[in-house]
Amino acid sequence: MKFGIDIGHNTSPDGGAVGIKAENALNMEVGTRVIAKLRKLGHSVVECKPSSANSVSHSLWQRVNTANAACVDLYVSIHFNAFNWNAYGTEVYAISPTGRRYAFAVLEQICKLGFFDRGVKNGSRLLVVKNTKAPAILIECCFCDSKRDMDLYDAEKMATAIVEGLTK
Ligand SMILES: [Zn+2]
Repeated sequence: MKFGIDIGHNTSPDGGAVGIKAENALNMEVGTRVIAKLRKLGHSVVECKPSSANSVSHSLWQRVNTANAACVDLYVSIHFNAFNWNAYGTEVYAISPTGRRYAFAVLEQICKLGFFDRGVKNGSRLLVVKNTKAPAILIECCFCDSKRDMDLYDAEKMATAIVEGLTK
């Protein structure tokens, strides 16, 4: 299977949220592990994060265009949430039935680690989920401004859970 793995943000001026930890760093440490684990399982991975961008919109469209040009089977964008330092848990965005199936599978695996299940949500307002031709999901792994989530979080376990959700 050919996965388009998109490590969220990390392309100035497209920076992530900053809470107890910075979303950029979390996306990177989970995303690189997900990519390595999928390749180790024999899957093909197209990395969708651009190396530079002149605006947030340019950053997002390059991710979409990379996934579409490579005709990936599934597009997966990896993010961490931030809200008010109180909210916690995991949510996954999708639109299509296939996308929703993967979204539920990933959500289930992450919640097995102890994260609160915030559900699968409608991704139709998310540029990357809406404009990729392949089924697409955007994972908000947990909240980077939640002490509960950051105490529970481990990059290796998070990446393993995502890969199990994507491949089982
Ligand atoms: Zn994000």
